[in-house]
Amino acid sequence: MTSAGTRWLGVIGWPVEHSRSPAIHSAALAASGIDAVYLAFAVPPERLGSAIEGLRALGVVGANVTLPHKERVMAALDEVDATARAIGAVNTIVRDGERLIGTNTDGAGLARSLSDSNVELEGARVLVVGAGGAARASVYGLAAAGAERVVVAARRKEAAERLVSGLSTKAELIAIDLNDEAAMRDASASSDILVQASSASLHDAGGTFAAQLPIGSLRESATVVDLVYVPRETAVLKAAAARGLRTIDGLGMLVWQAALAFEHFFGVSPPIDVMRRAAER
Ligand code: NDP
Repeated sequence: MTSAGTRWLGVIGWPVEHSRSPAIHSAALAASGIDAVYLAFAVPPERLGSAIEGLRALGVVGANVTLPHKERVMAALDEVDATARAIGAVNTIVRDGERLIGTNTDGAGLARSLSDSNVELEGARVLVVGAGGAARASVYGLAAAGAERVVVAARRKEAAERLVSGLSTKAELIAIDLNDEAAMRDASASSDILVQASSASLHDAGGTFAAQLPIGSLRESATVVDLVYVPRETAVLKAAAARGLRTIDGLGMLVWQAALAFEHFFGVSPPIDVMRRAAER
C-alpha cells in the first residue's frame, strides 16, 4: 500500500528488465517496515542527464545505477565521493537535500561477501581475472579491506596495466597477461583467493575458459570466487569444487552491494537474509 507519504527510489539502466535490484530492495523495505517503493527505470543513454534531473526534481530518496550509465552518470551529479572516483564508476546515488552524491558499493560488497563467508582479507594475496569495471571495483574493495597483494590478469595485458596504474592503494598491484601460463601458474600458487571478475563465465558452459585458468596450481586452502551469478555455479566454480576448494558465487557480492546501498539510503542495516532470498529467485 502506498500513501502520500510513500517515498521512492529505484535503479536506472538500459536495459534494466534483468535487474534483481527491485526484488532485493523491495524485500528489504517490506521486512524493515519502511514506507517506500523501489522501481526499475529504463533510461536510454541520451536521456541520462534529464533522468538525473528528474530524480532531483521529484525528490528521490536515492538510486542505484547499472550498465551502461555507471561511468557517464558521474558528470551529472553534484558530488562523487572518493570511493567512486577511485573506482571510476557510481553504482549508488544518495540525496542530501538538493544535492545528489555518487558513491560505489561494489568493491566493499565483494569484500563483505567474502568476510561474511569467513575468508580472511587482511594480508591476503589475490589473483583477479579480468580488467573491466567489476574487476576494478574488486581490486579497490580487496585492497581497501586489507589485501596485501592483488595480481590482475587480463587477456589484453595493457588493460590490466591500465587498471593497476590507475589505482592508488596500500596493496601491491601487479598486472599480468592471462595467456602467460607461467605467470598465471606462479600467481595462482602464491594466492589465497582467485576472483574471476571477467564476463567470460557467462558463456562457458563447456568449460573452455575455466580450463585456461590455473585452478590446479592453487593451494588446498585457497578460495575461488566467480562474480558472474548467471549461471550461479559457473564452470570455474565447478572446476574449483571438483578440486575440493572453497567456492563463493557472485550472488553474495550482488546482495552485499545492495545492502550497503540500502544503508546509504536509509541509515539502517537491512535484513541480509531477506535480501539474499529475494536475489535467489
Ligand atoms: P566489462 O565488460 O567491463 O569487462 C569484462 C571483462 O571481461 C574485460 O576485461 C574483458 O576483456 C573480459 N573478458 C570477456 N571475455 C573474456 C574471455 N573470453 N577471456 C578473458 N577475458 C574476457 O564487464 P564488468 O567488469 O562490468 O562485469 C564482468 C562480469 O562481472 C559481468 O559479466 C557480470 O556478470 C559480473 N558482475 C557481477 C557483479 C556482482 O554483483 N556479482 C557486479 C558486476 C559485474 P576485454 O576487455 O579484452 O574484452
